[in-house]
Amino acid sequence: MQTKPAIPTVKLLIDGQLVESQTTEWRDVVNPATQEVLARVPFATQAELNAAVASANTAFKTWRKTPIGARARIFLKYQQLIRENMKELAAILTAEQGKTLADAEGDVFRGLEVVEHAAGIGNLQLGELANNVAGGVDTYTLQQPLGVCAGITPFNFPAMIPLWMFPMAIATGNTFVLKPSEQDPMVTMRLAELALEAGVPAGVLNVVHGGADAVNLICDHPDIKAVSFVGSTKVGTHVYNRASQAGKRVQCMMGAKNHAIILPDAHKQQTLNNLLGAAFGAAGQRCMALSVAVLVGEAQNWLPDLVAKAQTLKVNAGVEPGTDVGPLVSCAALDRVSSLIERGVAEGASLDLDGRNPSVADYAQGNFVGPTIFSGVTPEMSIYKEEIFGPVLCVVHAATLDDAIKLINANPNGNGTAIFTRSGAAARHFQEEIDVGQVGINVPIPVPVPMFSFTGSRASKLGDLGPYGKQVVQFYTQTKTVTERWFDEDDVGGAVNTTITLK
Ligand code: NAD
Repeated sequence: MQTKPAIPTVKLLIDGQLVESQTTEWRDVVNPATQEVLARVPFATQAELNAAVASANTAFKTWRKTPIGARARIFLKYQQLIRENMKELAAILTAEQGKTLADAEGDVFRGLEVVEHAAGIGNLQLGELANNVAGGVDTYTLQQPLGVCAGITPFNFPAMIPLWMFPMAIATGNTFVLKPSEQDPMVTMRLAELALEAGVPAGVLNVVHGGADAVNLICDHPDIKAVSFVGSTKVGTHVYNRASQAGKRVQCMMGAKNHAIILPDAHKQQTLNNLLGAAFGAAGQRCMALSVAVLVGEAQNWLPDLVAKAQTLKVNAGVEPGTDVGPLVSCAALDRVSSLIERGVAEGASLDLDGRNPSVADYAQGNFVGPTIFSGVTPEMSIYKEEIFGPVLCVVHAATLDDAIKLINANPNGNGTAIFTRSGAAARHFQEEIDVGQVGINVPIPVPVPMFSFTGSRASKLGDLGPYGKQVVQFYTQTKTVTERWFDEDDVGGAVNTTITLK
């Protein structure tokens, strides 16, 4: 008989309590550098999801009326707790996700910025007032919370993306049910515990774990008013359709194929360094990774230097000092990326740098792929069409800037892009003509800070309002207009026509 190993279980957060799931379905959370099983994550039952939503529904009745200052102070405390626990959070994240410790701190930090922003909710959730819209009549707006909102997050930023969602939803007066990625839920749970410690009341934040079934229950649940999703285009499109049909507000931030245009007048070494970081950092598992380099004109002669620099990057476990490229999140991800590289070769691209099977002393079981570069890539090839989500850079050539812009605008995805140049005129032309959400000018991964909103064009986004920033205040609130008049005295003679007379 097999004895159950003493592996910790990931808890659910329901009604302010960390509880053990009663499910029979569990999945291992695995360290991608070592294959060590770190924990077991439950696939919550329908009853548990219902309990989380019921708790959020009850909590909403009081939370929605909690004074702005009280809500804001929780996030002031929360940002402090995240800072104090940064090293621990990064260590958990690296262990379950694989990225380097520095990158893991970056992951937490970009989420922390949204928490800081949430602490300023008093200034963000203001309504508008128009005085004397008619004689003695004023109209004003209220931005009122919706109720129970839900978030569904991907594996690649297990700290930042949950923090994109629940702090702003809660700060605006909603309650929340979060469904983190089942691949790396541990850092998300630690962040949820810190939120409780900061003073988020019972039921205001709930966390359930699981996969497709939990997501579908969230989409269908009649008491959930809004769903924020971040993940692949395939799943996001499904979530958008299903939750919209159930009458919810939905925003889905989805897949990508991000191109960088390199003009021959760009600062060469700076450009190549930026390109390497953006293509291979976090093992290419960023929705904003630059996975296609479009070398324009003479810049195509830079390919040998690009390959030579990429060869100097260190592939190793994320906990090891000096690591540039950590492991992919799972064995399945390793198989997927390896088979796409094979297809690239079979379909005729030139494999200028093959990162498969790197030798990583002490981590022989890790899911490693080193920096990989293909040139001669064409839009018909699988490596161009699919989001590889690994450390694989496709190099294409374009004769002119306009040809490069045309190529990018013809791609179904429009998440991020960048141009490297010294020409202001070329950069201006690019930003004007390109149909992509996040645009960088000599900035490789232009993720906007929280006073703006993350966005996306075409297949990279569904729903018109983005996560965080001003847009998310709109997303998580319902605008109510109030038109009011106060009588000075009890007027004589009533009229049946109650429309306001414009004088
Ligand atoms: P994923 O779509 O596989 O998973 C996202 C979430 O959906 C997870 O919580 C998962 O449990 C759930 N899910 C998975 N399969 C499902 C199904 N069949 N039905 C319902 N729910 C399901 O994405 P991932 O692999 O975790 O993350 C990588 C993807 O996320 C990439 O495509 C990346 O570009 C994208 N991403 C986009 C952004 C953005 O802002 N645009 C940011 C980060 C990641």
